[in-house]
Amino acid sequence: MASINKVTWIGRLTGPKGEIAYRIITEVAPHFPAITFTIVGGPLSERFSIAAGDNVLLSDFIEDVNQQFQESDLVIGAGRVALEAMAFGLPVIAVGEACYIGAIDDETIDEAKATNFGDCADQQDWQALRLIDDITRLVSGEKLPLEKYTDYLADYRIYKVAPQVMHCYEQAMIRATLARFAEVPVLTYHRVLPVAPQGSKFNVYVTVDELERQLTQLKRRGFQFVTFKDIAQGLKPTKPIILTFDDGYEDNYLYLLPLLKKHNAKAVIFVLADDALTNNRWDIELGEPEAALMSSEQIDECHLSGHVEIASHGLSHRRLTTLTDDEINFEVSASKQRLEALINDEVVSFAYPYGDCDQRVSQAVAAAGYRFGVATISGPVKMADDLMRIRRITMFPKTDGFKFWKKTSGWYLRYCKIKGKDFVNVSGRS
Ligand SMILES: [Zn+2]
Repeated sequence: MASINKVTWIGRLTGPKGEIAYRIITEVAPHFPAITFTIVGGPLSERFSIAAGDNVLLSDFIEDVNQQFQESDLVIGAGRVALEAMAFGLPVIAVGEACYIGAIDDETIDEAKATNFGDCADQQDWQALRLIDDITRLVSGEKLPLEKYTDYLADYRIYKVAPQVMHCYEQAMIRATLARFAEVPVLTYHRVLPVAPQGSKFNVYVTVDELERQLTQLKRRGFQFVTFKDIAQGLKPTKPIILTFDDGYEDNYLYLLPLLKKHNAKAVIFVLADDALTNNRWDIELGEPEAALMSSEQIDECHLSGHVEIASHGLSHRRLTTLTDDEINFEVSASKQRLEALINDEVVSFAYPYGDCDQRVSQAVAAAGYRFGVATISGPVKMADDLMRIRRITMFPKTDGFKFWKKTSGWYLRYCKIKGKDFVNVSGRS
């Protein structure tokens, strides 16, 4: 490898990207006085020019990135910059606004691809020392497998990269919308019935009257009934609440839908996409009374009403953590495809049956293209912190007045956490 004299970093100088540039200028460049670090990006500000030492060049955005690459021995960047530098045949150290990947080789390429070269992942702090180490290794002659970079890029024909990159930016937008809220109440309901059912073991119902009182109270308190899809589509609510109904019972169509219309409210219904499944078989086996599920026509009618987001609860209510990778992929992808074909619209959220999920399951849900993975009583208090493990508040019958107000107060999850209530990392009924 040619010796490394010129290192280029390209990106915006604002936000998290700007912080990376600032750390390169202040923490990394001083270790390599013989190397010139060119920081390409804007808007340039005094903070950067004051911090820049003799071996740092600050350059505003440039038209011709290739020209800059021609003058570089090594590129530090993420996302598209990393891809283009690799296509140019330059060694790349990937550092994105979410995480540090490192020098691109056989060991790091998978993580690089999974995170858009460090831009899309859970936020992880990184030490400048890692970047200093990586540069030192390359300076002292260690070679990166540049001949393999073309293979690495084979996945990145534009038609493949574009949706992936779009998805990444859209998730960032959703997180930004939700980051303003310490807690967004997401309520979990199941059945809605005129009278309490006989012999229910799990108490997975509310009566029509109870639910109507709750809707009325929420409206009076100024809540906006929103869906996950509303947020995915860019809605920026000021006081959101999300009502979710699991399993897709026929009573949702018979009794919930009219209530939503009457109160101009919205809800998310997580339905099972296996149309051979017509009742709550998985609960009947445990002694719960039989309950019919919605037909395809009823599901579609809910969707067309404009009051319901139809979302996926998988195909047949299986515990996903007990399945093989292929089985999980089938549950999450096939259910999405079938529901999208049925309602002729995108399905953006997935609720884990029994709230049962681990990292393997939530990654499969994200990889299938869902924007929200909805758990029961696991996940962080703040929704924006993990969109693939959204914590909900379970609703039981006879939750009236003060108890209901408390559950929807906007501080209930933090209260539960202090009390240790519902804050074990386990599954709940879903
Ligand atoms: Zn369920």
